[in-house]
Amino acid sequence: MHELGIVFHIIRQVDEVAQENKVNAVRKVTLEIGEVSGVIPHYLEECWKWACLNKSKYMKDCQLEIISLKATSFCQDCQKLYDTATNGKTCPFCGGSNTYLVSGNEVSIRNIEVV
Ligand SMILES: [Zn+2]
Repeated sequence: MHELGIVFHIIRQVDEVAQENKVNAVRKVTLEIGEVSGVIPHYLEECWKWACLNKSKYMKDCQLEIISLKATSFCQDCQKLYDTATNGKTCPFCGGSNTYLVSGNEVSIRNIEVV
């Protein structure tokens, strides 16, 4: 599962930070998930608890908070930003397809709360 791989990746990063900073345990991790990142927050939450218990040294009882980030694209023809979730690759202003994704594809750690 795609989400499980992401959880393992996050746990590795958080454990590293915890070790470097000599903390006892991590209480909560806040993640930013882009709307079009392909990650389903529900699946992420499902494997979170199990992965923390089995794969982490510092996150045995760690909460997960997910912040969803809106996806935005830019149209090179009319130089405007638009909402990707509702319009996809087609610019709603000029109908052009000369567009690219600006944000909404990220999966990143925003905050780590320690005990
Ligand atoms: Zn346009």
